Amino acid sequence: MGRHEERSSEAPGTVTVAGLEVPVVTATTVVVGTGSAGFCAADRLWELGQTDVVMLADKVHAGASRNAGSDKQTYYKLTLSGGDGDSVHEMATTLFAGGAMDGDNALAEAALSARAFLRLCDLGVPFPQNRWGEFIGYKTDHDPRRRATSVGPYTSRTMVEKLEAKVARNGTRVFGECRVVDVITRDGEVAGLLALRTDVPHDGERSPWLLFRCTNLVYATGGPAGMYATRVFPNGQWGASGAAYRAGVQGKNLTEWQFGLASTKPRWNVSGSYMQVLPRFVSTDAEGGDEREFLTEAIDDYGRLLSMVFLKGYQWPFDIRKARDGSSLIDLLVYRETVLRGRRVFLDFRRNPVREQLDPSALSDEAREYLDRAGCLFGTPIQRLRHLNEPAYQFYLDKNPYVDLETDLLEVDVCAQHNNGGLLVDAWWQANLPGFFPVGEAGGAHGVYRPGGAALNSGQVGATRAAIYIAARRGDAPPDDATFAAAAAPVLQAAVGLTEAATGRHSAGAADNTADLLTGVQELMSAKAGPVRSAESIAEALAAVRSLLARYPQDVVADPGSRRAVNRVFLVRDILTSAYVYLSAMADYVAHGGRSRGSVLYTDRAGELPHVGHGPLADTELELPEEFRFALDGGALDEEIQEVGWVAPGATLPEAPDEHAWRAGADADLDDPAGTPVFRWRPRRPIPADDDFFENVWREFREHGNVP
Ligand SMILES: Cc1cc2nc3c(=O)[nH]c(=O)nc-3n(C[C@H](O)[C@H](O)[C@H](O)COP(=O)(O)OP(=O)(O)OC[C@H]3O[C@@H](n4cnc5c(N)ncnc54)[C@H](O)[C@@H]3O)c2cc1C
Repeated sequence: MGRHEERSSEAPGTVTVAGLEVPVVTATTVVVGTGSAGFCAADRLWELGQTDVVMLADKVHAGASRNAGSDKQTYYKLTLSGGDGDSVHEMATTLFAGGAMDGDNALAEAALSARAFLRLCDLGVPFPQNRWGEFIGYKTDHDPRRRATSVGPYTSRTMVEKLEAKVARNGTRVFGECRVVDVITRDGEVAGLLALRTDVPHDGERSPWLLFRCTNLVYATGGPAGMYATRVFPNGQWGASGAAYRAGVQGKNLTEWQFGLASTKPRWNVSGSYMQVLPRFVSTDAEGGDEREFLTEAIDDYGRLLSMVFLKGYQWPFDIRKARDGSSLIDLLVYRETVLRGRRVFLDFRRNPVREQLDPSALSDEAREYLDRAGCLFGTPIQRLRHLNEPAYQFYLDKNPYVDLETDLLEVDVCAQHNNGGLLVDAWWQANLPGFFPVGEAGGAHGVYRPGGAALNSGQVGATRAAIYIAARRGDAPPDDATFAAAAAPVLQAAVGLTEAATGRHSAGAADNTADLLTGVQELMSAKAGPVRSAESIAEALAAVRSLLARYPQDVVADPGSRRAVNRVFLVRDILTSAYVYLSAMADYVAHGGRSRGSVLYTDRAGELPHVGHGPLADTELELPEEFRFALDGGALDEEIQEVGWVAPGATLPEAPDEHAWRAGADADLDDPAGTPVFRWRPRRPIPADDDFFENVWREFREHGNVP
């Protein structure tokens, strides 16, 4: 048994901090998050010999990997079949071409993609192979080859289940019901983490606090999904990025989210077959009355309207480049109904759009030929769906709440689905805080665009890179008792103080406001900082969030008898912190001259309005709201990366690692009780040049494993 293993097999010890005896779990590496990225990191560490690992999560079975998917959930990797050419460099170039992505991350994601993928196959993820063992691929969005593959709607769930089973076989301990409160640092390095036990009553005998002491934190907490009300992230996926910002970890490309059409009850992307069978889009008032087909208000050509809906099937994310007169105009028209007009939008599979009978002759050649080949040029949308893809119909019957598309309308909206940006990562997925490794969606490895499936690959690659680095370079013992107690004391005291103040106000008669604060910030973010944003809407939301955060210690009220309410004290703080950092990033992006790109329309009064028309209506009747006026960025900022940090009240600006200094906003006050957002723009790191002389690489590999 190795040194590391002995440490983690000990029963949790305790530390006494400020008179409180708090249990402490000690391990060389603590992995936070039990999604596909977290389990991969834990398993890789174990395989690399660093067996002194523990994991924790708020809910072990929560997270996007386990609970999200789509009709064909995609995994992206190097071509492993057929006669098509491909190379590591070419795949890295594809990833890099998404804009604002660092080249070393792109190269590592390409280089390790086959290794990460084959590992999953060996663990039992049934990626399809032909009789010769070739892993056949298909072409996904932003993919010049056929690098994509899938095991069906639940690719990431299958991955997480197989990885989890392996981690269980390794014997790694997993602590559930642990909400991240704060990251603990000492001397500018990771020292541990403070968690709140959400299964322990706050007013009971047992301590609801749990401390983790470690040398390394692998942060696999997923995207900060809790920030948006309108989201297709599964229930229970919140994220914990706020705690990282509070500890001085910085973020990059935070402005870059993916939004797209999804059903909201249950949450699921309505891509692929759901669009290809040409459902009818209707909106109603809040009570479900005043039903009308609204797409025709902007697209009055029948054939064009149908062809655009068809295209949404495989042009799923909202892409501003397709919003002028392409399929993403559909997202904008849905957004107009829900956000600007306060109505509800539904897909109706019972009836054909616009006309009673489908008129195939009006369809684009592409749509007609596809539906013809599938034998689907008949009947109603539901008849076509059940003919084309019966499991897609059955899917909604199996959900809770279930929807029978034969008889029910399916409510949809333009939902937040994925954050391309996230916490800063270097070529080994280490952040600016030594010992802190954000992997998976919590980390910000992507740029503006990414091929479908690249998120799942990035999670596996980042986890593997972090594990290799930790196993090679960061095996030191965690801080000793006294050092750790000194580092943990202020963090624990602050958390206890915040809880006592919040629950004390409740005992004095104030009503619990944690639920209202949570929905308030989520709805604000979706209304002002979602797929359509403007300098004004961002400024408005930023001012509101800044003031909520500044006043939070005085304003939050939690019912001490409710575990959920006490849990929300830290959840809401985390979300407010994230929202503050993200909104600041958006404001700085606009101030830097940033225009519409990726999945976001930044209103530009000097820009143009989308326009389709081509039917009988006059241009004035087809007019769209001024919010939809925009100018494309056209790749102008592809070579630059925006980094954003949060500085605690009274602290100073961080030091930059290069000549691109950190700066605060023009009217910033470093004593602001909400903290101060700081920014810098730097050129992106290029794709590293080939280092391919075998003897040299081999010698270096023998000497230090090529881990610097
Ligand atoms: C509808 C949908 C479809 C998608 N389709 C694709 C696709 O086809 N291809 C693709 O590549 N990607 C896709 N994605 C994205 C991809 O699924 C995610 O990026 C990926 O699964 C994230 O994995 P992860 O391990 O980083 O995080 P997650 O799987 O989200 O896990 C996060 C973990 O952290 C824990 N956690 C979160 N907050 C806290 C906290 N405050 N305290 C303690 N623990 C916490 C959670 O409980 C969970 O265990 C899709 C996403 C969605 C929502």
